[in-house]
Amino acid sequence: AKLHGCPVDKDELGRSTWNLLHTMSVYYPEKPTEDDKSRAKSFMTILGQTYPCDFCAKDLRKDLKSDPPKVENRQEFALWMCQLHNKVNEKTGKPAFDCKNVMERWRDGWKDGSCDY
Ligand code: FAD
Repeated sequence: AKLHGCPVDKDELGRSTWNLLHTMSVYYPEKPTEDDKSRAKSFMTILGQTYPCDFCAKDLRKDLKSDPPKVENRQEFALWMCQLHNKVNEKTGKPAFDCKNVMERWRDGWKDGSCDY
């Protein structure tokens, strides 16, 4: 697969979007205000209405309905986002990610320093 094709294909768009979504979730406030919470929920709703892969967006809307965003604090939102991604992984036949590692993967870096190059 090409690394930086143009235009962007479904997989490249997916990776870019997960970069944004997971990073947003692990930097979400530990003590969010009501505005923070409502913006996080709106962001996901609007993503489901605008994500430019029609069948992905349709499933996202279903997933958001059956398991609405959990936005009470950072830990909760990061875990919820990880579980959302795992639903897509399951659908596409990719391995599940162990959500206890989500902070290392997306915020702190792996303990073995493998992100520091
Ligand atoms: P990606 O799935 O893009 O993951 C990138 C990196 O995130 C991985 O290398 C891993 O380090 C990490 N990661 C993996 N799982 C998790 C997790 N659960 N939590 C935290 N980190 C994790 N593609 C389709 O074919 N059909 C769809 O219906 C579809 N729906 C999508 C819906 C949304 C909202 C998004 C954002 C993407 C969707 N995609 C869909 C794209 C798909 O999820 C992948 O992004 C794409 O297939 C590229 O996969 P990848 O193997 O490069 O890794």
